[in-house]
Amino acid sequence: MKARVRYAPSPTGLQHIGSVRTALFNYLFARSVGGTFILRLEDTDRTRSSDEYVRNLYDTFRWLGFYWDEGPDVGGQYGPYVQSERFALYREHAEKLVDMGKAYYCFCADGSAKKDEPVEDDGDDQSSAGFGYPRTCRNIDPVDARRRVEAGEPHVIRLKIPLEGVTVLNDLLLGRIEWKNADVNPDPVLLKSDGFPTYHLANVVDDHLMGITHVMRAQEWIPSAPLHLIMYEAFGWEPPQLCHLPMVLGEDGHKLSKRHGATAVDEFRRKGYLEAALINYVAMLGCSYEDGRDLFTLDELARLFKMEHINKAPAVFDYVKLEWFNGQYLRMLDDKELVERITPFMVEAGLVSSTATEEEAARLLAATPLVKERLKYLSDAPDALRFLFREPELPAALEFIPKKLDLDRTIAALSAARDMLSTVDVADHDATEAAYRERAAELGFKLGDLLMPLRVAVTGTKVSPPLFQSIVVLGTDVAIKRADAALAHLAAAHP
Ligand code: GLU
Repeated sequence: MKARVRYAPSPTGLQHIGSVRTALFNYLFARSVGGTFILRLEDTDRTRSSDEYVRNLYDTFRWLGFYWDEGPDVGGQYGPYVQSERFALYREHAEKLVDMGKAYYCFCADGSAKKDEPVEDDGDDQSSAGFGYPRTCRNIDPVDARRRVEAGEPHVIRLKIPLEGVTVLNDLLLGRIEWKNADVNPDPVLLKSDGFPTYHLANVVDDHLMGITHVMRAQEWIPSAPLHLIMYEAFGWEPPQLCHLPMVLGEDGHKLSKRHGATAVDEFRRKGYLEAALINYVAMLGCSYEDGRDLFTLDELARLFKMEHINKAPAVFDYVKLEWFNGQYLRMLDDKELVERITPFMVEAGLVSSTATEEEAARLLAATPLVKERLKYLSDAPDALRFLFREPELPAALEFIPKKLDLDRTIAALSAARDMLSTVDVADHDATEAAYRERAAELGFKLGDLLMPLRVAVTGTKVSPPLFQSIVVLGTDVAIKRADAALAHLAAAHP
């Protein structure tokens, strides 16, 4: 049977590392076995779902560049793929279970339910099985119950959890997990009093109707598994194979959260991570592909993915490692690609006009190789390249002064460095450096004494891309003007 897997997010928050990892593993699995990857929006929680999060979902995956074969936006034979468009199906199935004696109407709106479980309890605390309902309505005669429902009495539908026996999950990753039915959340709500399904009902009905063969989801869903398995059994359906993925933790061993740093994919994108780096790193969170190798394209990951290679132990999200991946991927881009990636960041920083002029584009192309080796993220580019697009602000005189020199000697050094600019060919970096070295020796300076003040004059900072290469991009005449301005600035600082 062809594998069918789904990513089933609830649009109640931004797409984050954990959710993308779940989606990615499902995608990679589908691709690795020639199966189908499906997106289903689980928006049964109407108060917490929002269009903003749906938009964020589409944006994120369009950016990441791995996509579903079936889903709300691309269609498919099993639609609709949005749960709020399938409500009639859920009621029909809940009623079916009542007819089969596997579920019952519950009217506990008047305090006969425990205080913490009002009749509206939506059971949508999806991560846990909920709390004990004392099964008050389980014993109402079904004929009476139906009469009350037909008379319009508010009600919910609850699943009958067997009072005895055990429910067994054979998790593809974790192996056998067993629950005594007596310990399973007594009789969870399937259909709420407003006719909305709970997560449990909608999830099971849809996985079945959509022909889902494997469910890969986060381990926090394990407590829901017995409810779901009992429901499959009640319907007489074959359950999909379940695989609960290890958690993603921060370095301190707690579940990855904002406290550890960025978690929303958007934040990584804005910071200037490349999608290929993020995908590569996230794919390795708790899964291995090929020994001794770290860098994989999406296609390679899909070819190499094996469910058996998923780790049981939690994965630790290492921001430094991700940075390393990003650096690797940045350096793999050719100059033109890197310019394309950098341009939006330059535009946002106001350094390049939104329709980069030919001159700006040419300058960016010339400048990019200067920073390629040292960029950690695309968002580093504007600061590193600013001096090539704007006059730098000159820092205080102190910043110009090399160690062991005073202001006068610094002025002398800068002035010598400036004068040499008109005699050397900066495009020949080695010869230029040799000439500066020689001149420094003549004047009793070290090479750095000559170059450091010039660097600050030309770039506005002590840390910059390689100086002579920068001057090539900038033009020697501009560099000389800047050196003159700096000399005036230093002279003015004289006591
Ligand atoms: N809607 C659930 C979520 O937000 C789906 C869990 C599952 O995959 O069954 O993660």
